[in-house]
Amino acid sequence: MKLTVENISKTYPNGVEALKNVSLEITNGIFGLLGPNGAGKSTLMRTIAALQEADDGSIMLGDIDVAKDKQALREMLGYLPQEFGVYPKVSAIDLLDHMAIMKGIADAQIRKEQVESLLYQVNLWESKEQKLGTFSGGMKQRFGIAQALLGDPKLIIVDEPTAGLDPMQRNRFHNLLSEIGENVIVILSTHIVDDVSDLCNDMAIILNGELKLSGKPLELIKKIEGKVWQGLIEKDVAETLEDDERLISKRLYMGKVKVRLLSDGEPMKGFKLNEPEIEDLYFATINDFRI
Ligand code: ADP
Repeated sequence: MKLTVENISKTYPNGVEALKNVSLEITNGIFGLLGPNGAGKSTLMRTIAALQEADDGSIMLGDIDVAKDKQALREMLGYLPQEFGVYPKVSAIDLLDHMAIMKGIADAQIRKEQVESLLYQVNLWESKEQKLGTFSGGMKQRFGIAQALLGDPKLIIVDEPTAGLDPMQRNRFHNLLSEIGENVIVILSTHIVDDVSDLCNDMAIILNGELKLSGKPLELIKKIEGKVWQGLIEKDVAETLEDDERLISKRLYMGKVKVRLLSDGEPMKGFKLNEPEIEDLYFATINDFRI
C-alpha cells in the first residue's frame, strides 16, 4: 500500500499558511513526521484522514482519492487523535464494542473476536470491565490504539501520541506501535525526536508548513557525518555561543554544559567529532543550516 501526498496547500481563513505545497510518498512501516508546535503536522494529519480539506493538491491511498471518496478512506483508516475523548462511565469492552459497530463490523461473533483480541493485544484484558474514567493516561492511550486498530485498517495515523506519557509508558507504547507497523502504513506525528529515532524507518521534517526534508533516517543523518562536534564547557563559555550559527544544541551536564556544534572543522579546542543523531539533523534543519 502506498500513500501519495501531492502538492498539498492549506491557508486558514485567518491567513495562516499551515501547509505550503507539501508532497510525500509513504509506504508500509512507521513514518515519522517531525516538527515543532505550529509546524502544520495536525493540519496534514487531519487532511490525510479526510477530516478537513486542502485548498490545493491531492492525496491518494492506493487508488482511493481521499478528497473524493472519504467513506472508502475511512473504512481503511485508524485514527488516534491528540486528545482521545473517552466516556468515563463506560467500560473498556463496552465502548470498544460500540466503536466496532460504528466502524461497520456488523457480525456479532466477528466483533466479539476482534474486540477481545485487541484488548489482549494492548494489554487491557485484565481491565476490560473497568470504567474508562478510572484509567491512567497510559491505559487511555492503549485504549486509543485498540480503537484505532478496529476493522483492520491499512493506514493508521497517530497524532502526538507520547506527549502525556511517562518514560515507561512511552516505551510500552513504542513497543506496541512497532508490533503493528509492518504490514500497514503508520504515520506518527510528533515534536519529540526520540519517538522518531526509536521507531521510524522513514521520516520527514516539517517547519512553517514546508516539508524541509524526507527520507530514511540512517541515510539522512549521513548528510551531517563528520560535521557534528561535541564538547563539555563551562557555563560562561557556553553563553558566548548563544548566537553562534554553528550551535545545534546545548544542555546542562554535571554542572557544565554539553554543547554540540555543526562545523566542517574543529570548532573549538577540546571538541570531539561525534556520531550524528536524528536530534542533530532536526536542530540543523529547523535552524536552517544548509545541509
Ligand atoms: P502542529 O500540529 O504542527 O502543531 P497545526 O497544524 O496544528 O501544527 O497548526 C499549523 C498552523 O496553523 C499554526 O500556526 C496554527 O496556529 C494554525 N492553525 C491550526 N488550525 C487552525 C484553524 N482551525 N484556524 C486557524 N489557524 C489554525
